[in-house]
Amino acid sequence: MSFLMNNYKNKLKYIASVILLVLFFGTSTLPAAASGRNQENGPVYIVQPGDTLNTIALRFGVSAEDIQSANGITDPNALNINQQLIIPGLEGISGLLTSQVLQYGTSLLGLSRQYGSKAADLIFLNKLSSPSEAIAGQTFIIPIDESKPTKSSAHTAAVDETILEYAIRTGISQWETLPNNQLSGSWDILPGEQFFISAEVTADQSPIPNVSAISFNNLPIIQGETLQLEIISSTPSEFSGTFNDKELHFFTEDGETYYSFLGIHALEEPAAYPLKIILTSEDGSTSTFEQLVLLEAGGYGNEWVNVPEDYLDETVIREEDEYLYQILNKFTPERYWDGLFQYPVDEPCINSQFGQRRDYNNGGLFFYHTGMDFGVCAPNLNIYAPAAGKVVLAEELTIKGKAILIDHGWGVFSGYWHMSEFNVSVGDFVQPGDLLGQIGNTGRSAGPHLHFEIDISGTPVNPMTWLSQEFP
Ligand SMILES: [Zn+2]
Repeated sequence: MSFLMNNYKNKLKYIASVILLVLFFGTSTLPAAASGRNQENGPVYIVQPGDTLNTIALRFGVSAEDIQSANGITDPNALNINQQLIIPGLEGISGLLTSQVLQYGTSLLGLSRQYGSKAADLIFLNKLSSPSEAIAGQTFIIPIDESKPTKSSAHTAAVDETILEYAIRTGISQWETLPNNQLSGSWDILPGEQFFISAEVTADQSPIPNVSAISFNNLPIIQGETLQLEIISSTPSEFSGTFNDKELHFFTEDGETYYSFLGIHALEEPAAYPLKIILTSEDGSTSTFEQLVLLEAGGYGNEWVNVPEDYLDETVIREEDEYLYQILNKFTPERYWDGLFQYPVDEPCINSQFGQRRDYNNGGLFFYHTGMDFGVCAPNLNIYAPAAGKVVLAEELTIKGKAILIDHGWGVFSGYWHMSEFNVSVGDFVQPGDLLGQIGNTGRSAGPHLHFEIDISGTPVNPMTWLSQEFP
């Protein structure tokens, strides 16, 4: 279950669904009433926070009027959270309809085996055209048959492994595996496929042999946010991979837990992108797993800023960005930072958030804000190091003005623009709270402020996330 518990949002969803299931099964009269109605009219959906009759209708591809009349609803605007709704018009589907965010490494067949739901029903309910369309991060509707227990533990089949070899390796009889997983014969087995067995057994929950867990800090992935991948491996291995052709770099401190940090560009098109992980064992053999992962919009706003025209020269902007990219596109193998990043100023007051689409001098929304701006609110202009790291840039640039960059290791950097004075030089190691310099108004700046940003190997990410969440 650790797979489901990896982020706060999922945790809440998981707790909510457990509570709902307890409420549902724990009340003696409801299930009988619900399943009695089921057989005639359709499966039962439990209203979730944020649902309206229209969104539910859209989700199941039925009309809002049909749901209204099947449930005798007089006021369509008065739905209650946890209210049970019969969904009419879903022929052949019965039971309780629940929803869950699909985790990376779980296939549609895996979901089908875990919940005992027919794969065809999952395809129909989620409007997929094939099983390969199961995208990690997507919310899936799953019909649960109350008469069958849910299987919660999984083993993973190795590449080219037969069901007999699988049975020998895991100690689970093939006669137990076959019926538990709706398999009619060993030809159904696919490399990396998960098999569900009795609920008490804890075992591999990932699609790669010798990997006990693959988890994300957040699913779906969000524009402009930090993607942290965590892999737990039972044997010393080397990991590599790609997300939408961007290379993943993995680091480990104990030889068991491997981390990779990736910056998701704030303007990356929301869509499903392939995420591939490659494990190379000590003997040189490799295992590869790939699945589409959903990337969603960050919901950033727009803002209009006026600056002198000189600061909008495309060549100057490009040359400065390329110069910084040479410094930022590096992966220091040591991790210098530890825990939460501190605010870089006393009394932080935020003038502008990260990710805002920006228009300079009414030229169009062609820019976006790569960091967050702190105004001058403290009686001093001090700028502090938010975490430990090494100063890799401290110089005056045309657009960014007096600028500092700190390398925190593993591809993570922090930047400070428009400063008036430096208290550190290139090569210095700083600790959290060390004085870096003073807030100023140098470069492309419309008044004294600190522009603070976090870059992951050259891609700016939302710094607020690093000030409020601990990585790793
Ligand atoms: Zn700024």
